[in-house]
Amino acid sequence: MTTYDAVVVGAGPNGLVAANHLADAGWSVLVVEAQPEPGGAVRSDREVAPDFVHDTFSAFYPLGAASPVLRRLELEQFGLTWRHAPAVLGHPFPDGSWALQERDREATAARMEAAHTGDGDAWLARCREWDSIGDHLVGALLSPFPPVRHALGAATRLRSVGGLDFVKMLLTPAAELGPAYFGGVGPRVLLAGNAGHADIPLNASGSGLLGYLLTMLGHTVGFPVPEGGAGRLSDALVQRLRSLGGEISCSEPVTGIEVRDGRAVAVRTPSRSIGVRHGVLADVNAQHLYSGLLAEGDVPSRVRRGMRSFQMDPGTVKVDWALDGPVPWESPPDVAPGTVHISDSVEQMTEALSQVSAGGIPAHPFLLTGQMTTADPTRSPVGTESMWAYTHVPQRATHDVGDGGVRGTWDRDDCERFADRMQARLEERAPGFASRIINRRILGPRELEARNANLVGGAVGGGTSQLHQQLVFRPVPGLGRAETGVGGLYLASASAHPGGAVHGACGMNAARAALARRRVRRVVPGRG
Ligand SMILES: Cc1cc2nc3c(=O)[nH]c(=O)nc-3n(C[C@H](O)[C@H](O)[C@H](O)COP(=O)(O)OP(=O)(O)OC[C@H]3O[C@@H](n4cnc5c(N)ncnc54)[C@H](O)[C@@H]3O)c2cc1C
Repeated sequence: MTTYDAVVVGAGPNGLVAANHLADAGWSVLVVEAQPEPGGAVRSDREVAPDFVHDTFSAFYPLGAASPVLRRLELEQFGLTWRHAPAVLGHPFPDGSWALQERDREATAARMEAAHTGDGDAWLARCREWDSIGDHLVGALLSPFPPVRHALGAATRLRSVGGLDFVKMLLTPAAELGPAYFGGVGPRVLLAGNAGHADIPLNASGSGLLGYLLTMLGHTVGFPVPEGGAGRLSDALVQRLRSLGGEISCSEPVTGIEVRDGRAVAVRTPSRSIGVRHGVLADVNAQHLYSGLLAEGDVPSRVRRGMRSFQMDPGTVKVDWALDGPVPWESPPDVAPGTVHISDSVEQMTEALSQVSAGGIPAHPFLLTGQMTTADPTRSPVGTESMWAYTHVPQRATHDVGDGGVRGTWDRDDCERFADRMQARLEERAPGFASRIINRRILGPRELEARNANLVGGAVGGGTSQLHQQLVFRPVPGLGRAETGVGGLYLASASAHPGGAVHGACGMNAARAALARRRVRRVVPGRG
């Protein structure tokens, strides 16, 4: 039996970050991946049209660009180049006007001031608060729990940003955050739309923090995309790992983890057993780890109990289009955004997301969309657009709030009807959109999961991001750390703290935990 210091199960961004960190420490590492290629939900392809690159899953990486974890890997040396759209984010309104966020905060504030007196200054005040405390907020979010250093750093800055008033702002739900500070609709809709990237209801605490975080990152690091496609980010992680001697085996699903005397000692695949000296790092969904890869008797009873109430985030329907021209917006903004949110208002956005959490398939889904050629001209021929939109749908749909035509079975017929509903939303803002389509591809919950087993029911976040399943509650009430209760086995996926998005922190936390345990075992043989 071949034996490695560590085996990483799954080559998503978290698995690849973990593998890189262990290889940096001199460990022999094998990454075992079920799919034919590495990358997890960070891949791109040419399935929609041969001349068009589409990101199969994720596309914009503000947290990736801000993440100290990814930065220290210096992926630019392994072929990664970030590209930026002329504007970060746009939101077209039914009357043809736009809310627009540029990288430049002054330019953004000037637009807001012109729309509503006082909003420009209010926006710049939020930016100054971020200047003072933002690094510590990002650091605290992406560190293992408890984030002592960054929490202390944030505490020392708190007075300068308004003390408890600032804390209250962070806890204010996104739907109320905008009206609390801004008179115009532009800033409100930008904050709420960014909050809508996760599954926290816009009228619940936690959503405002996410909206503020992503909006401010839009100014500091932008919403960058890897030149050539999301897969280039994964390619860089793979190349770096290989340069350190790490190995990757694709098309090899892990079917079990062998535990002896309370310690993970090997992983099983259909064709072999792979021995492990120090650690198994599981970049897999927590449900699959605890109810699939481990024998029931090997899962600590505390974890088994906790997993009974583990909650996935909603499912997703994603549509990709190859367009033979730019999106024909009714009145295009003067600076073109890469990310575009589609909803008539904050109220409609709030309603659609609430419907999803109540089992309803929205009549007016809130769309997150990306104009990828606008962000990175290498994605498709000059003058065309590589475009996508996705929206959330219930994990278990009970009713269609729309015309009743979508049953929630997410078979081909359901996906087509729902994709038509999504496309109609774009057609409202961009008359003639349909006439530009060369081809479209629909990835419903089933197709997403078939391409990546972690996307259970089409969930993008590895489990709900709501407060009751964050920090020390992720994935089960405990310490918010990567340890699983099985010696030498670590949860490295987005199901662990700090959760979804491409930042690599879950993988890094798991790798650090494995290295720390090894140090303890060296000093105190037999421990752990
Ligand atoms: C449609 C979509 C859009 C998104 N948009 C964004 C975005 O724009 N920006 C952003 O930051 N984030 C986005 N996300 C979220 C982000 O992609 C994920 O949070 C992130 O990829 C999680 O990384 P991971 O390494 O934990 O898991 P994943 O990326 O899901 O990778 C897990 C890997 O493990 C493999 N695997 C699972 N089980 C096994 C097994 N038993 N044996 C072997 N291999 C296994 C899978 O095949 C997969 O390759 C999006 C996600 C989706 C699905």
